[in-house]
Amino acid sequence: MQLTLPVIIIKGIVLLPNNEIRIDLNNEMKFIIDKAIKFHNNKILIVFDINENKNLSYFGVVCEIEHKLELPNNQIRIILNGLKRANILEYLIDDEALIETIEIENNNQNYIKKLQKELKEFTKTIPYVSNGILSLININDLNKITDLIVPYLQINLERTNEYLYETNPEKRAEMILEDIYIEKQKFEIEKEIDEKVRKNLDEAQKEFILREKIKVIKEELNEKSIKENDLDSLREKLRNLEASNKIKAKIELEIKRYESLQPTSPEVSITRNYIEWLLDLPWNKHTIDNDDLIDVRNILDKSHNGLENVKTRIIEYLAVKQVTNSLRAPIICLVGPPGVGKTSLAKGIADAMHRKFVKMSVGGVNDEAELIGHRKTYIGASPGRIISSIKKAKSSNPVFLIDEIDKMVKNFKGDPASVLLEILDPEQNKYFSDNYIEEEYDLSKVMFIATANYIEGIPEALKDRLEIVELSGYTEYEKLEIARTHLLPNICKEHGLNYNSVIIKDEVILKIIRNYTKEAGVRELNRILSQIIRKIVTALATTKIKSNKFIIDNKKIVEYIGKPKYMFNSKNKKSKIGVVNALAYTPFGGDILPIEVNYFKGKGNLILTGSIGDVMKESATVALNYIKSNYKKYKINYDDLLNNDIHIHIPDTAVSKDGPSAGVTLTTALISSFAKLKIDCSIAMTGEITLRGEVLPIGGLKEKVIAASRNNIKKIIIPYDNSKDLEEIPEEIKENIEFILVKNYNEIYKIVGDINE
Ligand code: ADP
Repeated sequence: MQLTLPVIIIKGIVLLPNNEIRIDLNNEMKFIIDKAIKFHNNKILIVFDINENKNLSYFGVVCEIEHKLELPNNQIRIILNGLKRANILEYLIDDEALIETIEIENNNQNYIKKLQKELKEFTKTIPYVSNGILSLININDLNKITDLIVPYLQINLERTNEYLYETNPEKRAEMILEDIYIEKQKFEIEKEIDEKVRKNLDEAQKEFILREKIKVIKEELNEKSIKENDLDSLREKLRNLEASNKIKAKIELEIKRYESLQPTSPEVSITRNYIEWLLDLPWNKHTIDNDDLIDVRNILDKSHNGLENVKTRIIEYLAVKQVTNSLRAPIICLVGPPGVGKTSLAKGIADAMHRKFVKMSVGGVNDEAELIGHRKTYIGASPGRIISSIKKAKSSNPVFLIDEIDKMVKNFKGDPASVLLEILDPEQNKYFSDNYIEEEYDLSKVMFIATANYIEGIPEALKDRLEIVELSGYTEYEKLEIARTHLLPNICKEHGLNYNSVIIKDEVILKIIRNYTKEAGVRELNRILSQIIRKIVTALATTKIKSNKFIIDNKKIVEYIGKPKYMFNSKNKKSKIGVVNALAYTPFGGDILPIEVNYFKGKGNLILTGSIGDVMKESATVALNYIKSNYKKYKINYDDLLNNDIHIHIPDTAVSKDGPSAGVTLTTALISSFAKLKIDCSIAMTGEITLRGEVLPIGGLKEKVIAASRNNIKKIIIPYDNSKDLEEIPEEIKENIEFILVKNYNEIYKIVGDINE
């Protein structure tokens, strides 16, 4: 149907037929509206310009003006009801157009049913679709229903415009189904994303809420302040901790665990303890080395008297380490009797290098766990001694002294030596792992130094990794020197006394060394000197004597520390039949041992007394068998050997002695006894004997010689193969003692026999 209608163009919206809109228009439009109302039965043609199209559209909607209202701001408000689509045949003057309306009727039930079904589904699945759409379900006109559905769709203006231009309602129905499908898809995807986001949020939220709950519970239990404060201080410590991020994360985790534990849980103290350990370890803390080796040497010289070889070896060792930065460098092991300065030297090295110092004794350790700890799950578990020592050091690169590595015990609980092997191996110790700590600790920057009394006691496998540096006992004169330069000045300083005001003659110090101490080192000497200085200090404090000179003489010594304990040169003062001086090497240094032999009616049994070991017993048997096979040479009546029991005694044995070095002495004592040969008491001898009478070398010569010189021995018989050790013997001793080197027992017999003649 063709007709002429007033036309207005509207921007920004699209109205489909069968729908209503309310719009506000400028006053200028008023006359068009009025014209429509007056002359066209309220009908008007609306053209929609949605993309600022300059070309006029040839399509519009015939609308009925339902209501008109003049607004105070010179605008008019109208309500339009869309009636039909229309093609514009021609724009006329006076804002009118000639149009032809599009008349369509369509009741295609298939489409209608499909739409009805989809609409129901649509409102069900998508919560934001208005239920108003359901009111359309009963419309049985495809043209109408399609136009009515469109405003409910989530589509833009262009799409709405497409609906307007599509005159075929079946096509529009298809478009609707498509849009519904797209909307459902969009919704599903959004829902998925939403869920993901919500889940993430939920977890953070959950943790927060739980934490808050815990707080409230704790508050209720009045526990908040203590634990909360504790947690704060732990976290503060963690912030200041120098450690890798991995360690820090681990600690943070443990703190969280601790935080969440019920106060009554048995794990509270375990976890708390563990955190404390982790926080206390010097993970990345270290000191800066003093690389000036001349300075290091000077400091060592100041702190320790003598020990030239040892200090030189140490400096060489440090130099090599510095130059090569080699990880494979062996570990220094200081070997020597007690009190010779092994520990204090190691401490001196630490001081000189500006490193921290820690000491760990492994003497008597038989359990690996003692070194590397027990698992946390053990009741009362704690880290092993290695980690404990590192904690004490407060630095990851201390000088770490492993004391008494010759006294470890291997048994069913494990082999501590294998643990030491691991920590001393630079390839492995980077990843040292303590059972308790669990996290790896890098020990590669630690400078390990080991000590031992006997080389023999060091486990073989360990020995390979060690650079043995021997420290032998001191002679009396060396001790005197140490007392003067170090012990006395240090003791005086400790007691607040001026060293210069203490006057003590060399003879007096020597007397203390000879008659009050019996040791290879200077520990006892140090103790006795301290005792004396303490007496002086006490006297000063109690008697108000204002003297600035304190003379210590022999009389004072007896007054301060009592009568002499050891009588110098008291042993074997007279030459006797059946008594011969042996030289022994004990943990206290060298000692002189008069070996006694006696015999009485019996059946040729050998009886041994004194605390002697198995090796020495074997030596006695070898000695006896040697003289049995050489009885003629040594003028012994063979029947005496068969018809008597022979008793060998080694007196004065506070410590067990063992080793083969008494062989030649046992032989001599036996000959002396059976051949009635008197042996000069100023002779001492040492050496292993074989069944053929060969004399084999022995250890600890320096210590033995020092002991001999203390005991007024004038002549010492030693194995020929020990001649190289004579270099080490201090000159002042060599001046007073004659050394005789022998290869075979015959030579010894010649000497002792000669003396008798
Ligand atoms: P060790 O570890 O060998 O048993 P220590 O290191 O404990 O011996 O030494 C005991 C004491 O003797 C320490 O006070 C040490 O300073 C002192 N001392 C040992 N040798 C010397 C020395 N050569 N010079 C100065 N002091 C020494």
